[in-house]
Amino acid sequence: MLQLFDTAKGGVVPLEPRDPGKVSMYVCGPTVYGPPHLGHGRFSLVFDVLRRYLEWSGLDVTYVSNVTDIDDKIIQRAQREDRDWREITHRCEAVWYRAMDALDVRRPDHDPHATAYIDDMVALIGRLVDRGAAYETSDGVYFQSERVGDYGLLARQPLESLKAGARVEGIDEKRSPVDFALWKKAKPGEPRWPSPWGDGRPGWHTECVVMALDLLGEGFDLHGGGQDLAFPHHENERAQAVADGRRFARAWVHNGFVEVEGTKMSKSLGNVTNLVDLVEQYDPRAYRLLVLRSHYRSPIDVTDDSLRDAEAALERLDSFARRLATVDGVAGAAPDDLALARFRAAMDDDLQTPTVTGQLFDLVRRANAALDAGDDAAAVPLAATVVEIAGALGLELRAGVGDVPDEVSGWARERDEARAAKDWARADALRDRITAAGYVIEDTAGGTVVRPG
Ligand SMILES: [Zn+2]
Repeated sequence: MLQLFDTAKGGVVPLEPRDPGKVSMYVCGPTVYGPPHLGHGRFSLVFDVLRRYLEWSGLDVTYVSNVTDIDDKIIQRAQREDRDWREITHRCEAVWYRAMDALDVRRPDHDPHATAYIDDMVALIGRLVDRGAAYETSDGVYFQSERVGDYGLLARQPLESLKAGARVEGIDEKRSPVDFALWKKAKPGEPRWPSPWGDGRPGWHTECVVMALDLLGEGFDLHGGGQDLAFPHHENERAQAVADGRRFARAWVHNGFVEVEGTKMSKSLGNVTNLVDLVEQYDPRAYRLLVLRSHYRSPIDVTDDSLRDAEAALERLDSFARRLATVDGVAGAAPDDLALARFRAAMDDDLQTPTVTGQLFDLVRRANAALDAGDDAAAVPLAATVVEIAGALGLELRAGVGDVPDEVSGWARERDEARAAKDWARADALRDRITAAGYVIEDTAGGTVVRPG
C-alpha cells in the first residue's frame, strides 16, 4: 500500500482512500498572470507522477486542479499595462497548458476557474459570517483564525508563534494579525461581483475550499501543492472548511522547493527565466527526469549541468528503445516480477523516485548486456520492465523509428545483408550514404539502427 508523508500528521502514513478503489486529488493550480516558473513545473510533475502511479496501481483517480483567474496580481498587471484582465488570464492560461503539454503533464479531470465559483464563495463567506467565524471591515470580510482550535496544523506551529511572526499592516482593522481576507471590496475600476458586503472579489484562499468540496466531496483523499502553499494558503483553506463544519482533505502532501543554480528561484538559468524557456531550450523530458531523480520533499537544484546530464541519461533510454525496436517479442512480454516488485516497493515508500530511476537505468544496463551476449530470452523481460516503469512514471521512450524515411531504413537493411555476406565494401558504401543523408548509425546485436543525427 502506498505511504505518503502527510504534512498534517507530520509523518509517513498509508493512503487510505475514502472510497475503495478510488482516489480523489486536489492540487492548487496557477494564478494566471504571467508565465509559469520552474516551481510550477516541479509541483505539476510531482503530482502527475503520483497520479500516474496511482492509476498504474489500478486505482481510479479523479484529479482536480484549479485556475485562479481573479487575483490582486492579475488586476495589478491589467492596470499597469492598461489591458482587460480577462485577456491576460486567457493568454496566460493558454501558455500554462502549452508548457504542461510539453512536460507531458496530463490535464486535470476538472480545472475549475475561480470566476465560475463566485456565487458559491459568497455563500460560504455568508455562512462563516453567520457562524461568527468571519467579520466585515471597511475594506472587506476577514476570517477569524482563532476560531479554529487547531489553526497552525499545517504550518506545524502554534497560533501564538504564527501571530508573533505575522506581518502587521499599517492601518489594520483585522482583529488578529493571522486573520485573512475572504472578500475584498472593489476600488474604482477594479473587477467586481455583487455580495451582501458590497461589490468586490473573493480572497485567494476561499476558491479551493468550494471547488474541492463541490467536485470531490467531503473528506476527499489528498490535497497537494508546493511546500510554500502549506502556510498560509492550505492552512486557511482548511480553517474555512473546519469553521463551516465540513470534512476537508484527509491527507496533505507537499513537495519541496526549486533552486536555480543554488539560489532560491531568484537567479536565472542562462537564458531560462521560466518554464516556457526551459521546455524550449531543453528536452522537456529532462525536467521530469530531474524531478524524479530527487525525492519530492527535498529541494532540487536546477542547473544547466543537471538538465544536460538528464538529457544524456534520456539519450541512453532512447538508444535502448531504438535497440528494442529490432528485438522480437518485447511488446506484450511479461515484465520481470522481481524488478517490478522492487519498483512498487520503492514507490509505495513515500515515492522514493531516486531509487526508482536507479533501478530503471540498472535494468537498461542488464538488458543491454544480455542483448550483447545474444541472450534475447534474458533481455526481453528486463526490457519489458523498463517499458512498464517508464510508462508508469510518464517518461516517454523515443525509439525514433518513425523519424527515419523508409528509403534510409532500406539502406540500413541492405547494409545488414552486405555485412552478413561479408561484403565490407558495399556495407561501408551504404554506411557513407546513410551518414551523408544526415543519419547516425548504431551497430547493435539486432543489426543496424538508424536515427536522425
Ligand atoms: Zn488552493
